[in-house]
Amino acid sequence: MLFDELNLHAALLKAVRAQGYASPTPIQQKAIPYVLAGRDVLGCAQTGTGKTAAFALPILQRLSAAPRRDGRRPIRALALAPTRELASQIGESFAVYGAHTGLRHTVIFGGVGQASQTRALTRGVDILVATPGRLLDLMNQGYVDLSRVEAFILDEADRMLDMGFIPDIRRVVRALPAKRQTLLFSATLPPSILDLAGGLLDKPETVSVAPSATTVERIAQSVYFVEQSDKIDLLVRLCEGQSITRALVFTRTKHGADKLVRKLAEASIPAAAIHGNKSQSRREQALAAFKRGAARVLVATDIASRGLDIDEVSHVVNFDLPVDAESYVHRIGRTARAGASGAAFSFCGYSERPLLASIERLIRQRLDVVSDHPFRSGRAASENQSTRPAIAAKPSQPARRNSAPSVVYGSHRGRSSSSRRPFRRDAA
Ligand code: AMP
Repeated sequence: MLFDELNLHAALLKAVRAQGYASPTPIQQKAIPYVLAGRDVLGCAQTGTGKTAAFALPILQRLSAAPRRDGRRPIRALALAPTRELASQIGESFAVYGAHTGLRHTVIFGGVGQASQTRALTRGVDILVATPGRLLDLMNQGYVDLSRVEAFILDEADRMLDMGFIPDIRRVVRALPAKRQTLLFSATLPPSILDLAGGLLDKPETVSVAPSATTVERIAQSVYFVEQSDKIDLLVRLCEGQSITRALVFTRTKHGADKLVRKLAEASIPAAAIHGNKSQSRREQALAAFKRGAARVLVATDIASRGLDIDEVSHVVNFDLPVDAESYVHRIGRTARAGASGAAFSFCGYSERPLLASIERLIRQRLDVVSDHPFRSGRAASENQSTRPAIAAKPSQPARRNSAPSVVYGSHRGRSSSSRRPFRRDAA
């Protein structure tokens, strides 16, 4: 299918062409016609599938097809996102795709001064992208009038739920006109999200991305059994090898992230951290350093990493295994974009064995065990074999769950630079 077949205006097609997209992604093919027709949509898709354009393009088209009447610029579309990074990325997408529409947008989020945000709001915007907290703040101060909103987009609804934003969202929704178009996107559709959707959406069309080749399948995943106290040395050793060119490393705590950055720096491995305790400008600096290659390692907590769209991550390292198995899938989805093969290393300490077992149950796949590394923990490794679920090391049937990210797309991503592994791998 071609973009030309989606009935998008020339102004939007021009912007899409400038991005070099060959064809619409599956979520775009499915969602764009419904959104253009004014329908409510419940979209099950994860970051990396092209979901932002799936809502931004048709919303831009609807707004430009019915221009504002009296010269004023009321807010006509509102997009809510759970994190500052995701909000910024959505804002960038509206800017890129809307470049030839004459529509204006702005992005508001917390953690930074509000002056430039209120200035933009006072000047008038057609599209507002916001995180819930700052939006409510500015609504209470009288800077935001949502009474003319025609389209409401809730992105990463499952994450909103995890982060406790649902009461805030309900408050925002009360300020919206009852007659509006609503689009809700979520990587997973657990009952709590379906509940939320039931209250927000009117006779929605449900679209989800067919998991034809899940990210999980395309990523080389391995596990290192290692004592907690040896994890830093193991990471340093792995980084000294050639294969890790750009690694996203996950730790459980903010404190752990900072400590790791210090230790990597001591070993002359440039690293930066991104987590919730950092100011917005520090987070942006860290991300920019990583993107331009000045930092080879970006250490992140789960919440900070969500929605990040970073090109060419060669490796994801689970320095700490995630407590919630689904986070594992979200984490490793940061590598292997655009059909590139990626690699995910998981460090499993003695006390983390049950977490590994639940990850393997979720993805219905055993991770390959790397056993000949210098920091191997015998007790973590041997006892683990008995707690790990009985699953074939390589599944003959790929894991098929709506929580697993599907085919992922990127505009200009290269293959990960190398899939060479520093140590011999044994199948578990
Ligand atoms: P998203 O899922 O919206 O975060 O998009 C992930 C990446 O896919 C972004 O870098 C987009 O620029 C890119 N993208 C979106 N639509 C397409 C498309 N039709 N073809 C290729 N890349 C795309």
